[in-house]
Amino acid sequence: MTETVIATRGLRKRYGALRAVDGIDLDVRAGDVYGFLGANGSGKTTTVRMLLGLVLPTEGEVEVLGRPMPKAAREVLPRVGALIEGPAAYGHLSGRANLALLDAAGPGGSRRSRRQRVGDVLDQVGLGGVGKRPVKAYSLGMRQRLGLAGALLRRPDLLVLDEPTNGLDPQGIHEIRTLLLDLNSTGTTVFLSSHLLAEIEQLATRVGVLDRGRVVLQDDLTTLTAPTGATVVQTPDPARVRAVLGDRVLSTDADSAVVRGTDPAEVNAALVSAGVPVHGLRLQRPSLEEVVLAAASTSADRVGVPA
Ligand code: ATP
Repeated sequence: MTETVIATRGLRKRYGALRAVDGIDLDVRAGDVYGFLGANGSGKTTTVRMLLGLVLPTEGEVEVLGRPMPKAAREVLPRVGALIEGPAAYGHLSGRANLALLDAAGPGGSRRSRRQRVGDVLDQVGLGGVGKRPVKAYSLGMRQRLGLAGALLRRPDLLVLDEPTNGLDPQGIHEIRTLLLDLNSTGTTVFLSSHLLAEIEQLATRVGVLDRGRVVLQDDLTTLTAPTGATVVQTPDPARVRAVLGDRVLSTDADSAVVRGTDPAEVNAALVSAGVPVHGLRLQRPSLEEVVLAAASTSADRVGVPA
């Protein structure tokens, strides 16, 4: 069985009358890139803080790397790299010096190996060339990358990142995405929160959707976007598809028809032999956006779907 890396049971956090997190059961397994999707204010940061023992739950249980949190924080946290709500750094010091300070609390080693470790993580996040500049001269994106470098210092088994691409330009987002996928391919489990559906769709292998403190959807991305049992036919003449295939046609629009059945070759043969022009065929799959909208009782903009 796959090892569970994060498990929460009935996890709740109340602030007075406000139920910031309202009884959630998360399951993150070793090797996942878990995308924790939710609108602003849905409770993502509060959840992430509870995972790391920074906020105490009102009710419920948290296990990280198989150990209860916050009780086992001293064993668990050295194996976890975290970046929450923007990195903190000393502005007058260089990126390299900031990392060296963080590293001083880490596993130690010779001065040379520590310098090497800091250099490696700076390179990893693409700050190798600017590590000597003071952090106050960094852009927001560079600071975010420095935060990520700090999270990588201990070569963590688990990375927990709250909105890691906030404030980054498209190039920066691309670099962080590539970096996270690289880390994941070498065995790091990644838990990242985001309010951007497209970001989660591009990165995650498993998705949890938070809506007003509750998990409304949690599953593997491949399961969520599994074929629906229909085939989409691209054609300039959808009406003729209907004439040939009758009530197998589930819907049509200007240049396509959706046909019941999961064998595109069979659909193609039937249409081509009847002289219907076919420009393309594919199995129909729902997009993550469609799945999320169906699950969440929220409007598109609440879950970060571009209008
Ligand atoms: P964002 O993306 O905007 O950070 P989020 O999904 O991370 O949103 P949280 O920051 O977890 O959401 O907040 C969830 C709810 O709990 C919000 O209504 C917020 O105002 C409230 N909240 C968070 N922290 C506190 C606190 N310390 N005291 C009172 N209310 C809080």
